[in-house]
Amino acid sequence: MTQYRELINRKRKQLSAEEWANGIKSIHSHKMNSMWYDTRPQDTKHFAVTDTQYNDLSIERRLHNGALVFFNEEKLTGEALIDAWEKATHNLCVCGTQNCPTEYSCTTHGY
Ligand SMILES: [Zn+2]
Repeated sequence: MTQYRELINRKRKQLSAEEWANGIKSIHSHKMNSMWYDTRPQDTKHFAVTDTQYNDLSIERRLHNGALVFFNEEKLTGEALIDAWEKATHNLCVCGTQNCPTEYSCTTHGY
């Protein structure tokens, strides 16, 4: 029975994490080509773009003409996603500190 309960518990966590993954982490309108994930400097050469980052770290970019492009290199799945969800819902920074004062740089520089 214990094993069964653990399996259910894991499944529940996974579902919660997947739901959380679609939440918006940040929206950023800019004209920079120096974002750490940016592989498309041509997008911001003449126009601004709006980048939306989701909780699973995938990024959706809206170009000035309304077209969408995606950056999924850092996208979290499986165990990594559950891990990130657990940290986020317990207000833990990626470095493991609660209410971390340098959370932004911890997140952008990766741990
Ligand atoms: Zn931190």
